[in-house]
Amino acid sequence: MPLDASRSTIDATWHRTHCSRMDHGGCTLDIAVSSGCIVDMRPVADGILSRGHICSKAMASVEKLTSTRRLLTPLQRVGKRGEGRWKPIFWPEALDTIAFSLKRIRHQWGARSVVFCQGMPKGLEHFLLIRLAHAFGSPNIAAVQDVCHAPREVCGLHTCGFFPVVDLRHQSRSILIWGANPFATNEEGVFSSLLRKQMQNGCRIAVVDPCRTKAAEQADVFLQIRPGTDAALALALLHVVLTEKRYDEAFVRDWTKGFDDLQLHCEPYTPERVARHCGIDADAIRSCARLYAMQKPSALLWGNAIEQHPASWHTIRALICLMAVCGNLDVAGGNVHALEPPVMGLGSFVRSDLVPDKVREMIHASYDVIPRMMTVPSAYWRKAVLDSVPYPVRGAYIQCANPLVGYAEMQMTRKALLALDFLAVSDVVMTPTTELADIVLPAATQFEFDDIGHYGLGHGMVLARPKIIDPPGACKPDLWMLNEIGKRVSAPDLWFHDIRDMLDTVLEPSGLRYTEFVKKGYLEGEWIERKYLTEGFRTRSKKVDLRLDSARKWGLDPLPQADIPKDGMSDTGSQKGMLLLTSAKSPYYLHSSYRWIDRLHQKEPLPVCRIHPDTANAAGIAQGDRVRITTSAGSFIQWAELTETIRTDVVLAASGWWMTTNGHTDLSANYNQATSAFPVGKTFGTPMLKGIPCFIEKVSDDSDAEMPVGSRAIHRSFDA
Ligand code: SF4
Repeated sequence: MPLDASRSTIDATWHRTHCSRMDHGGCTLDIAVSSGCIVDMRPVADGILSRGHICSKAMASVEKLTSTRRLLTPLQRVGKRGEGRWKPIFWPEALDTIAFSLKRIRHQWGARSVVFCQGMPKGLEHFLLIRLAHAFGSPNIAAVQDVCHAPREVCGLHTCGFFPVVDLRHQSRSILIWGANPFATNEEGVFSSLLRKQMQNGCRIAVVDPCRTKAAEQADVFLQIRPGTDAALALALLHVVLTEKRYDEAFVRDWTKGFDDLQLHCEPYTPERVARHCGIDADAIRSCARLYAMQKPSALLWGNAIEQHPASWHTIRALICLMAVCGNLDVAGGNVHALEPPVMGLGSFVRSDLVPDKVREMIHASYDVIPRMMTVPSAYWRKAVLDSVPYPVRGAYIQCANPLVGYAEMQMTRKALLALDFLAVSDVVMTPTTELADIVLPAATQFEFDDIGHYGLGHGMVLARPKIIDPPGACKPDLWMLNEIGKRVSAPDLWFHDIRDMLDTVLEPSGLRYTEFVKKGYLEGEWIERKYLTEGFRTRSKKVDLRLDSARKWGLDPLPQADIPKDGMSDTGSQKGMLLLTSAKSPYYLHSSYRWIDRLHQKEPLPVCRIHPDTANAAGIAQGDRVRITTSAGSFIQWAELTETIRTDVVLAASGWWMTTNGHTDLSANYNQATSAFPVGKTFGTPMLKGIPCFIEKVSDDSDAEMPVGSRAIHRSFDA
């Protein structure tokens, strides 16, 4: 299907690449280019991960590239910060200003007073930003990993010595999908196409989710969980597996530590007791546990919903214990330790050696978070800006991120960004975050520069993402910006001649240059399962630490915990007549991104909160009404969609909204108007983003929210 009907593909040249910057990327695509423009885009049937998949976001990406909203030149603030007055400047001036400002802060306050901030990693620039921080001398790379990815990775490293990623490329007999919606989103390069193939081959499915998703509709077992009670459910699954002796005896005997303690510990977590707390049926808990333990190999496809709660440590620890005792760890079709292909290791690329005291120097070190958490949680770096705790932070460089919209407690983010002495932001368009900057840099994006995909994701592969077209105006890749800033703020010999030099360096261990890598398309690591048979697990005990004794040092119980109130009800507020607020990702946007792309906006034009009809009736709310959602932290307004796919005690709101249908900035619908940065979980500094007690009320029609043109229809799009 041509993307631009006015252009023909007759004279086009076709290029193969991997989709990249509309989410984590990974779909293999053929792109037709004519006269420097993309005129067609097709999925590749045998794409290594995608198997012929392409989504609405990728199909809209040409509109993203040609949008009139694109930033085309570096901008310098001329009014007060946030006033919206800018002047265009040339690149040398922009880069020199950034370098001068960061060095001035380093001179006055020390290198650690500059934070290098990343949103969702999309490519090599994430790791180059870490290299820049290290070369500058700062240990502080701030990211959102406390609510995404890091808790699973860090728990994995401590419990079994690796991050157990789902293996969908070998056939499983069952898959437990927990807090993920693979038919709607591509989280961490995990595609529904592989899941579909598994299901066609007879793989059975269990789903844990507060919402009846597409996957849940096709599942053998569906546990419609009350948000925030995941740890208790994971322990109840363990209870069933252990009491019914459905565990893998040989694996438990030879490769686990603390099995007897875990067995004793799980005794009180009976399905009946946990069922009431989680709001699900006890027999369904038993069915789920039996499916996962008996239909082997079984994979756990877990999403970052698990991580958006202060109790994530316990949930994840319990789930890794479940993988281990059922013998589903590091086996084909289970959760595996994927070996990386022969490319430069992350430590070498990011030059960890340049900040040897990093672990002790990072902002969150003073909060005793779990060791190996390598990025600063958002709550802690904002507190450092506002309160100089544990030391002052005075400058920030932000790329690929919109923290004003995306971080918990929006008002705290605004105050922190305004309090900085200097803020530079690189992005594709102006956002509520760039509006608060001193310098804004215009970033190149999807298909506009050479890159290596899936590097550092732990999936055992890297994907070629060759440049297809030139970026518009003066846009430059983040890789180029960081390399140039690096030369100005640190020893020039730490930096690369150009991007090709950088990519060739990363690929050097493979013996390939970038052009040869592009011809191959991707590199995979060696496939070896059950690596522990020869070398043991990479833990101190060489086994899976079901009982993690080192946790005592961090003030934690060595066994995973879940608090269940005496009456078995949720302790998160619903027993007091309040609802529980949660959120889900949209298939058309990526967090706060792409709200400005018409083609996507038309598919999901409104911020919609999903409410069960019974709940809505009780509150006097009808389909399409505007609804105010209020928590103890604040409130926001969205449009009601009444649906029986949602629990009666839950409101599932859209996150990431900052723009009206008419293209104006409007943060009144933003989820983070009603979240709190603190308190956070002690383990990872995670705020509570799911299962927040709230109440809802209809907003009267005479209030002045900007309505979509000609429609009050609610677009039912979440599971498309
Ligand atoms: S799922 Fe992600 S990688 Fe695949 S086409 Fe869509 S945006 Fe691109």
